[in-house]
Amino acid sequence: MDIIKNYKLKNGRVYRILDADTIRWVVPKGARWQILKANHDNVGHFGFAKTLDRIQAMYWFPKMRRFVKKYVSACLECAHHKTTGGLKVNSFHPIPKIDIPFHTIHADHLGPFNKSKRRNSYILVIVDAFTKFVNLTAVQNTKSTTTIRIFKEHFSYFGTPARLITDQGTTFTSKKFRDFIVSKGIKHVLNAVATPRANGQVERYNRTILAALGAMTHEKPINVWDDYLPDVQLGINTTVHAITKKTPTELLFGHRITNPSEGILNDIIEDVNENEVTPNLNTIRQGAKLLIDKQQHKCKERSETRVKNNIALKVGDLVSVLRTIPSQEGQSRKLEPKFRGPYRIKKVLPNDRYIIEDTPLTKKGRLYEAIVAIDKLKPWLNFQSANDDSDGSNSSSKDDDDQSY
Ligand SMILES: [Zn+2]
Repeated sequence: MDIIKNYKLKNGRVYRILDADTIRWVVPKGARWQILKANHDNVGHFGFAKTLDRIQAMYWFPKMRRFVKKYVSACLECAHHKTTGGLKVNSFHPIPKIDIPFHTIHADHLGPFNKSKRRNSYILVIVDAFTKFVNLTAVQNTKSTTTIRIFKEHFSYFGTPARLITDQGTTFTSKKFRDFIVSKGIKHVLNAVATPRANGQVERYNRTILAALGAMTHEKPINVWDDYLPDVQLGINTTVHAITKKTPTELLFGHRITNPSEGILNDIIEDVNENEVTPNLNTIRQGAKLLIDKQQHKCKERSETRVKNNIALKVGDLVSVLRTIPSQEGQSRKLEPKFRGPYRIKKVLPNDRYIIEDTPLTKKGRLYEAIVAIDKLKPWLNFQSANDDSDGSNSSSKDDDDQSY
């Protein structure tokens, strides 16, 4: 009886009935490994939750959770390229979100990597703030001319955005780039140097991209890393996002796009999708918008509690600064957090940003001054900081895993 209620035959294959509109292919034992490989290895080695999401969307087999968990935790490439996910955001001043695809985009450079055969050393990362759709381009340098060329190409597909968010890197602050942006009528929002806060979107992606790229090029020649970039991009764009609970392509196009990683399994995907009622694109987007708002609210609350518990920094305080320094590891350079100091707070700016300056201990020739957001600062020699650290990482490490991009 149960067998008739829970399973059905279609095109000679057995499907599990989840509800009236939802069926999943019952994966025979021998094919499970292949499916895991297609949905983990071939799309950028995402973690357990994301891999499970992908597989649940298409397939069914008993003890799937356990099998996926085991597979991912035993993945060698993953073990070699585990991300540390270290950076903690202490405060949060979000830019208002707008639920129109490519209205607001974030951009950043990732690298330098070892020069590829095609002489590429960097990745220009462009992320849509709403759908989380990511556009990755391997580039030879971070010059404004190169960046403008890629932006023009991006705009030709997705239209000119109303808003662009970047850090204050010279690429984005040069006269040439600013002229380009002004000529397109784009509002350019610059963030404090290397703060993950407003540009957190991109920084989270950077970790994911590095991990995916590292895992995919594992034991491959160093100079072909850019060959794998399209796979990483497609992998991210067809994987359920932790915040929106949708894949970027679904939010953009209103339906799942077929990932070639599925290969010979495409027939099955057609069978499964044919049965499902595709919700209206507006409904999909509304749902995602609600989740983004909810997440933003949660982040804000969490940061407010944390700021309250934090010691307020004032002019004259000595601080150490978290700097992200590229370091060579394996085939790609990883960003490793490192504290430097002591620097002195010179001025307190709005939105938890500070102007810091050299002290005799850090001074090397030219006077150094920088705008830094509070999440990159901690008091120099402070007994409370040890406490803060453990609080911060315990309470948020789980979330960080969930939002690894
Ligand atoms: Zn893996």
